[in-house]
Amino acid sequence: MDRFAIAIDLGGTQLRAALVDPSGKIHRRTSVATAARAGPDAVIEQITEAAKLISEGLTRAQIAGLGVSSPGPLDTVRGLALSIPTLSGFDTFPLRDALSARVEYPVTLENDGIAAALGEWRAGAGRGHDNLVYVTVSTGIGGGVVADGRLLRGRRGMAGHVGHMAIQRGGALCACGRNGCWEAYASGTAFARRAVERAAEAAGSALGAGGSRIDGHAVFAAAELADPLAMELVAEEADFLGAGITSLLHLYSPDLVILGGGMANGFDLMRDGIAARIEADAMPAFRDVKVTRAELGDNSGLVGAAMLAFSESETRQRL
Ligand SMILES: [Zn+2]
Repeated sequence: MDRFAIAIDLGGTQLRAALVDPSGKIHRRTSVATAARAGPDAVIEQITEAAKLISEGLTRAQIAGLGVSSPGPLDTVRGLALSIPTLSGFDTFPLRDALSARVEYPVTLENDGIAAALGEWRAGAGRGHDNLVYVTVSTGIGGGVVADGRLLRGRRGMAGHVGHMAIQRGGALCACGRNGCWEAYASGTAFARRAVERAAEAAGSALGAGGSRIDGHAVFAAAELADPLAMELVAEEADFLGAGITSLLHLYSPDLVILGGGMANGFDLMRDGIAARIEADAMPAFRDVKVTRAELGDNSGLVGAAMLAFSESETRQRL
């Protein structure tokens, strides 16, 4: 039996690698700053090096495979990175084949939202459920869906890009170039931008006092101290999150919604606001669905990538 999988979380800022066992426990980890502007060859080299480092001293037989979680959109059927905004040169790039040519293990590739949903489903807040929606809220908004006990992948494996669900026709400009996406209102980026704008207008708020940096973390910290502007911003953010989650409830009828990403650090402050928006907007039969915080924190994607490597390995052994 395979004892470990090598998991890679390829981010625009950090490339993280971990050695994970079948229960989802992380045994070793390492990270480097992603060579985001250096092109695919440099990034492939980084992944190969990280995999080598993380599996040092282990035999080939002890390793099920290499699972990679990457920002999308990816065509995971063909193993292509279609266009990754945060990584130069990843335009219709054969990421899976390029990695397979460099490592001796089977390589699996997954969109990061779907990988994280899988991690939370198998080893986190979603254990034991057949239906769930995972939403990660950080720089942008991503997600993944488990329906009827299966990961929902859709055409080209691109299902679950929940951040680009339109909530306002002709609304705020999104990083994807369209207008009115949920991400343009409820992402950590949008939250911080509103904070910077309002702090410039407001008097008497601790936000930005003495030239201090205003980011999501600073707003949550000020809200904890009952700063009125920060509390208003947090309430507004919870309302935007609740609005998008309400649509997800209607679309997928999950047992629960799991919130991850950096913005989940403010979950306790936003929980009631999110619930109030769902209570007001959702059809009555959907209002009792629980929204909960991710249990694996920023490891959801790593653990999910490892789970994919294990399930690939099992499939091959059965054939
Ligand atoms: Zn968008």
